[in-house]
Amino acid sequence: MRLDVISLSPEAFAPLLELGVIGRAFKAGIAHLNTHNPRDFATDRYRKVDDEPYGGGAGMVLKPEPVYAAFESLPVLPRRRVLLMSPQGQPLQQADLRRWANDHDQLVFLCGHYEGFDERIRPLADEEVSIGDFVLTGGELPAMTIINGVVRLLPGTVGTEACLEEESHSALLLEHPHYTRPASFRGLEVPAVLRSGDHGAIARWRFGQQQERTRLRRPDLYARWCRKDGNAGGEPERQA
Ligand code: SAM
Repeated sequence: MRLDVISLSPEAFAPLLELGVIGRAFKAGIAHLNTHNPRDFATDRYRKVDDEPYGGGAGMVLKPEPVYAAFESLPVLPRRRVLLMSPQGQPLQQADLRRWANDHDQLVFLCGHYEGFDERIRPLADEEVSIGDFVLTGGELPAMTIINGVVRLLPGTVGTEACLEEESHSALLLEHPHYTRPASFRGLEVPAVLRSGDHGAIARWRFGQQQERTRLRRPDLYARWCRKDGNAGGEPERQA
């Protein structure tokens, strides 16, 4: 997958190429990251990328010309999607990451700065995306969040497909708890069922835990899961 980021701080993306599972995916050629700085496309002698808002008010606004020039310098792959980072966008969901990973061969990220974008930049985007109801100083962390979430779904990045299918948010329910050795740690015991070797009982316990966790931590997701596919939504199975 080709990833193009339009950002005034392209250096912010360097660690992505180095760190952990995602860094290895870039090194393996599963994804390619290209950064483009609108400042390199500014034509005036000061390389100006922002200006005061018409009508007055605090902050500076990203000018359209350098952003358009950077955008128009990009190649266009057949299944491209353009994402504009904005706290006014649709809240990011795991389903979005899956859709972009499955259906697209190029993602373009428009990262804002200062007070935000000149409104005429917005039509470049297919979607506006928010990573939550809070405001950051720039679109780099939101873009990196999405890149991390998409690249880990690409075939070859994460070891087994099962890991991705079983995790939280893949099917509304949160994931069940995990334990590893030792069996007893400071008086806290691993549930006996996980050491029983009874795979059917383990699967039932995990499914019950998923329901219980989701019901307690995310009643909104639990209610959606109950409605979906006629899931009973009764009392989740509880086992020691
Ligand atoms: N004045 C803008 C507003 O109220 O909508 C906020 C501008 S913010 C300081 C600067 C840039 O950071 C935005 O243009 C956007 O690219 C990015 N940004 C900030 N918070 C974000 C969020 N929660 N999700 C996605 N992008 C965000």
